[in-house]
Amino acid sequence: MENVSCKRLFVAIDPPGEIRREIGKWLRPLRAAVGRQARVSWVEPERLHLTIKFLGSTEPGRLPALGAALRELAAALPAFELAIRGAGRFPEGERAPRVLWLGVDDPEGRLARLAEALERQLEPLGFAREKRAFSAHLTIGRVRAGTVRPELLRCGETLRFGNPFDVRELLLYESRTLPSGPVYGVLERFALAQ
Ligand code: ATP
Ligand code: MG
Repeated sequence: MENVSCKRLFVAIDPPGEIRREIGKWLRPLRAAVGRQARVSWVEPERLHLTIKFLGSTEPGRLPALGAALRELAAALPAFELAIRGAGRFPEGERAPRVLWLGVDDPEGRLARLAEALERQLEPLGFAREKRAFSAHLTIGRVRAGTVRPELLRCGETLRFGNPFDVRELLLYESRTLPSGPVYGVLERFALAQ
């Protein structure tokens, strides 16, 4: 049986405040337009995050080894730049979208390599490898009912939010589900190499 003190964990990168504010401004008319067609749980701008590895339910006894692995990985990784660009949906194509997201511009593949390094380092600690290929995205909303017309998100590669920003740390997050929705709290921060 699952230990009641288990924490639901994930590793993520936070976009900086000015990018969150730009996304928040862009989201307002989209939310209004979608609001007439579907019920969507929107992610408030201050909660936007880029999940790199979902760890799931984790016993507290595993936290020290997890922290050590993340610290070691982060310290060996030079800080790098990312940009938020484009919008899309899962599933793609003509089916009704369930997840609405913003894309990530990672021209040097640094984020993808980081995700792969995390999978490799955490597997021996008992965190199962993700079966699906890593696909970096910033979830902006989850469709709960109704249909979001795909053309509302058809803004392609031209959509940009602010300038590229430096990723300087990895965050270990705890996720709790309250009746009001999910609440994410940072448990620990891991600085990347300078
Ligand atoms: P809720 O599940 O209450 O709608 P949420 O999905 O934001 O909210 P969590 O399910 O705890 O909250 O997820 C935390 C983060 O991990 C989110 O970024 C989510 O997209 C991601 N995530 C959740 N489950 C998985 C999974 N099975 N594989 C990959 N990423 C996941
Ligand atoms: Mg979820």
